[in-house]
Amino acid sequence: MYVKPRKSLGQNFLSDNYYVEQIVDALQVGSEDTFVEIGPGRGAITSWLLDRARRVIAVELDQRLCEVLRDTYSDQPQLEVVQQDFLKFRFDSLQDAEVRVMGNIPYHITSAIMFRLFEEAAAPAGPKIRDLTILMQREVAQRITADPGTKSYGVLSVFSRLHSQPEIILQVPASAFTPRPKVDSSVMQFRFHQQPLHDLADLKLFRRIVRVSFNQRRKTLRNSLRAVEEFRELVPRIKFDLTLRPEALSLDDFVRLYHEFEEADDERTY
Ligand code: SAM
Repeated sequence: MYVKPRKSLGQNFLSDNYYVEQIVDALQVGSEDTFVEIGPGRGAITSWLLDRARRVIAVELDQRLCEVLRDTYSDQPQLEVVQQDFLKFRFDSLQDAEVRVMGNIPYHITSAIMFRLFEEAAAPAGPKIRDLTILMQREVAQRITADPGTKSYGVLSVFSRLHSQPEIILQVPASAFTPRPKVDSSVMQFRFHQQPLHDLADLKLFRRIVRVSFNQRRKTLRNSLRAVEEFRELVPRIKFDLTLRPEALSLDDFVRLYHEFEEADDERTY
């Protein structure tokens, strides 16, 4: 059945089997693995996963493609097709002790998917999430893996390292997809820390500090942090070199800055 690709759903299908095989090889699929696949489309990757893994839960938003998948793989009981927006998928509905998540995803929801998985991997309920392997625009992958002090380093680099060990495992050219997208891609793997690396009682506050720090990357931390109401009063009490610019700070530095804010907030007299 021909399914006309929908641009609004980021439907650029992998059509070069060489790269599909490379991606699946890089995943090092174990015969006991359960995969949650995001946006399986017509099953370009799914069929390879089905040959190697114990179980595949394929979460696809497009009803037409769900029908194609159900038809094509009707003789494969280890495949479960779920018609849903992946961002609403409930991991705690799964009985598996551990799952792996992967997908050639629609690129416009790359950050939303990453943040969703960061939350899920840290959540006490539901299965353990071992890793997330996704294709993304090459520039985004470069930002995630950028080191402090570089132009690409930013919010995504800090958050990814807080929750995982991020690594670019493969490059995929635009020519491997149909229709051909305007950008080249990278396959990025996030191996989630099974224990938090840092003791952050208030993760929301940490995230807010990082985001606000990078609001205006050319400004010093003092200027960016002072610009928002909630931090203005605390800034003078922070024992940290606030003349630095945000890209100079490693994850550990941001954690130290966070603890300073926590302390300053505790000392605040009401
Ligand atoms: N995996 C297939 C492949 O590699 O050929 C398809 C990849 S295509 C880039 C992205 C897929 O994600 C499409 O099938 C699209 O319908 C699906 N999709 C788009 N938004 C989605 C969402 N919010 N939740 C689940 N699937 C989604």
